[in-house]
Amino acid sequence: MARVAPDEQGMARLDGRGEQEQMTDKTLLEIRGLTVAVEGKQILNGVDFTVNRGEVHAIMGPNGSGKSTLANALMGHPRYTITGGSITFKGEDILALTPDQRAQRGIFLAFQYPTSIPGVTMVNFLRQAMKAVRGTDVPVREFREKLLATMKLLKMDEQFARRYVNEGFSGGEKKRAEILQMGILDPDLAVMDETDSGLDIDALRTVAEGVNALTTPKLGIVLITHYQRLLNYIKPQFVHILYQGRIIESGGPELALQLEEQGYDPIIAKYAPALAGVTGEKA
Ligand code: ADP
Ligand code: MG
Repeated sequence: MARVAPDEQGMARLDGRGEQEQMTDKTLLEIRGLTVAVEGKQILNGVDFTVNRGEVHAIMGPNGSGKSTLANALMGHPRYTITGGSITFKGEDILALTPDQRAQRGIFLAFQYPTSIPGVTMVNFLRQAMKAVRGTDVPVREFREKLLATMKLLKMDEQFARRYVNEGFSGGEKKRAEILQMGILDPDLAVMDETDSGLDIDALRTVAEGVNALTTPKLGIVLITHYQRLLNYIKPQFVHILYQGRIIESGGPELALQLEEQGYDPIIAKYAPALAGVTGEKA
């Protein structure tokens, strides 16, 4: 989503985004009472959570609980209508901003299903993305240095950048391409939607090592995942369980371990009467 041309305003604004300013306030993302509808159907029913710089939050939940809806709403996907609540990023209400403007503010979304772009090489794509997010041209040399340094950090072969975006990529390569993009764009908040889905254990480990290599004190991470296994490699300090469009439980890493042992059912059962009360159904 960080892939659209920037608006004129973005150019001027980005100049003020110095490292110093970035570090003064630790609060990155504040979501309050967020309700979201897709094609007239209410999917999120009041989500609250806060992400500070340096924190890793895992959002877990069964299929259909609204995880991707949350990710897309955060990025400003036009199909997801915000029907209530607020999203504040670095103190700014971002609900009226377009996805490219949100990317310029420093939000990055790694897709669950990355699209291929035949005919466009990774190099060109990444350079355009960097340009769009910065709002100014990026000198070739600076871009090359950034690309090579990031690929080295992610232990990627240089050949990878010459291939067409996601064209013929394996599941693992697609996810690594997303992580490379994240490294190039250097966001403040990275949202990863099921970055682990469809990966075997080696690919999973490689992708997780990539994310860990990019972790800095300024970065906040929201890891969306159905399964606990990714969390063996990227350690969250906070775990939230999303169910029927609500965070029904929040805790530390132990919550994810409990899920691995017992599945979602015990937690859901605990909240079933309350949820039934809200939706008007019988428990
Ligand atoms: P998750 O990512 O947790 O599996 P989603 O956010 O994808 O959940 O979906 C939550 C619910 O919203 C599901 O019931 C799904 O069918 C519905 N939904 C998601 N996207 C759309 C859409 N584009 N049109 C209609 N319904 C949708
Ligand atoms: Mg999903």
